[in-house]
Amino acid sequence: MIDYDYIKPDSLDEVLSLLKEYGPKATLIAGGTDVMVKIRNTKKSPDVLISLRGLKDLQYIKKNSGYHIGALTTHRMLEQSGMVQKELTALHEGASRIGSVQVRNVATLGGNICNAAPSADTAGPLLVLDATVVLEGPEGRRSVPIAEFFTGTYKTRRKADEVVVEIEIPAEMEQFGSAYWKHSRRKAMNLPILGIAVALKLADGDEISDARIGLTVAAPTPVRAYKAEEFLKGKPLNDDVLAEAGKIAASPDCCTPRDSLRCEAWYRCEIIETYVARMARLAAERIKNPNL
Ligand SMILES: Cc1cc2nc3c(=O)[nH]c(=O)nc-3n(C[C@H](O)[C@H](O)[C@H](O)COP(=O)(O)OP(=O)(O)OC[C@H]3O[C@@H](n4cnc5c(N)ncnc54)[C@H](O)[C@@H]3O)c2cc1C
Repeated sequence: MIDYDYIKPDSLDEVLSLLKEYGPKATLIAGGTDVMVKIRNTKKSPDVLISLRGLKDLQYIKKNSGYHIGALTTHRMLEQSGMVQKELTALHEGASRIGSVQVRNVATLGGNICNAAPSADTAGPLLVLDATVVLEGPEGRRSVPIAEFFTGTYKTRRKADEVVVEIEIPAEMEQFGSAYWKHSRRKAMNLPILGIAVALKLADGDEISDARIGLTVAAPTPVRAYKAEEFLKGKPLNDDVLAEAGKIAASPDCCTPRDSLRCEAWYRCEIIETYVARMARLAAERIKNPNL
């Protein structure tokens, strides 16, 4: 039998003091959809699970000089938010494709990024939306850009005594269109073979004034395809330009996909090349028509 203590505090201060008290013996648990699977698979558990589910005030989606999403916000809340769908469309698509409704009802945005799987479905969208992760610990609050948050497979910049409390997205993202493609073997519940997110901003006359590309399962951590982004800036929005951006994004300058049981690296590169162009086109169209 797997044995552990379970504590469910009501406040962030209590969580922080419990983390201090138990140190490495404790693990935080939010929705538990990664934590419980890991405990069952490894048959190892921490001595103490500290639940964050009592922190109801960390469940919110607000727009106020930028977008603010509480770490305990579930994927289902993101899926059901009209504002997220219209204004942060890539995140809406990422969250809506996670697991099943049952999983999305309990699994949280904070849990998805803290687990830091290379396949995390919200990571690519948050990268292109230029999100910042807000952490709270004994020394107070600090912010880490999401592009610097993932340090390795299942590793992040979060310190053991910190809690992720919020994900912030800058107000300027309102002017971008965005899109996320989860490439998986089937449409039903499945992890992505590859995830491609694109956010695009256009100037007058369909010139690309800003572009962001996020790739998942394309490297040990979710990554931005900076070289492809740079190539796009200042170029006209046309098929040749988007196809070239896809090629650059699929090159070793931007990603290092690996062969795995689910898919070989060469195929991942082909998917990147094809879908970066398609998602860029869709993101651009969504600037004019967010309902696409
Ligand atoms: C059947 C099934 C299908 C799934 N399908 C997908 C899928 O399609 N795409 C996908 O990306 N994922 C998928 N997952 C994985 C999982 O559901 C997500 O990663 C989910 O977002 C994790 O959130 P959670 O709240 O359940 O995290 P938990 O399991 O509670 O925690 C995950 C990790 O984050 C830490 N943590 C959680 N919250 C915080 C916080 N606020 N501050 C600091 N640390 C924190 C925990 O200590 C733990 O290390 C699936 C899981 C299952 C069981």
